Amino acid sequence: MHRYLIGLGSNRPHHRHGPPRRVLIAAMERLGALGEVAATSPVVTSAPLGPSLRRYANAVAVLDSALEPPALLAELKRLERRFGRRSGGQRWGSRVLDLDVVLWSGGFHVDPRLMVPHPRFRERAFVLGPALAVAPDWRDPLSGLSLRQLHARLTRPRPLPKAARVAGPVAQ
Ligand code: ADP
Ligand code: MG
Repeated sequence: MHRYLIGLGSNRPHHRHGPPRRVLIAAMERLGALGEVAATSPVVTSAPLGPSLRRYANAVAVLDSALEPPALLAELKRLERRFGRRSGGQRWGSRVLDLDVVLWSGGFHVDPRLMVPHPRFRERAFVLGPALAVAPDWRDPLSGLSLRQLHARLTRPRPLPKAARVAGPVAQ
């Protein structure tokens, strides 16, 4: 049995399920067909990223599944297609449903078709925020930091860059 953290995103309505938030709630239910959904986060909405000007809804789910990572990814892609996501569409573009493998209990999975941990999850508040609600103590195997720590690092207020700092670090 493996434990997975799955990231869900949507920025297009579905003809039957309705707005992105409802798409994610329906998709989290469907994840149950792939194993056991141990926890689901609240759905958050965030400002649009990239060329698509639509608002995103995001959530994460903890899934316990007997599927190995490549088999799980194949099922996630099948689920995306079933929600009407067209393949070959613009990356970062608008999509009914995006399902990403963020973390898994086995640590690393290194393959260009499936990189776990997901290479960009540490910079994504829309992943780390919802993840805090379901798996705050899960540790990123790369940095060794918990999701709580990664989230704090991302959202910590930082002073505006000073002109001196633009020139690079000052030798001690
Ligand atoms: P993104 O999620 O970055 O917007 P896509 O959903 O279009 O982009 O995914 C592009 C490809 O990334 C997928 O076809 C998949 O093979 C690959 N991929 C690599 N690592 C992962 C991962 N951890 N989760 C999901 N897809 C991944
Ligand atoms: Mg994806």
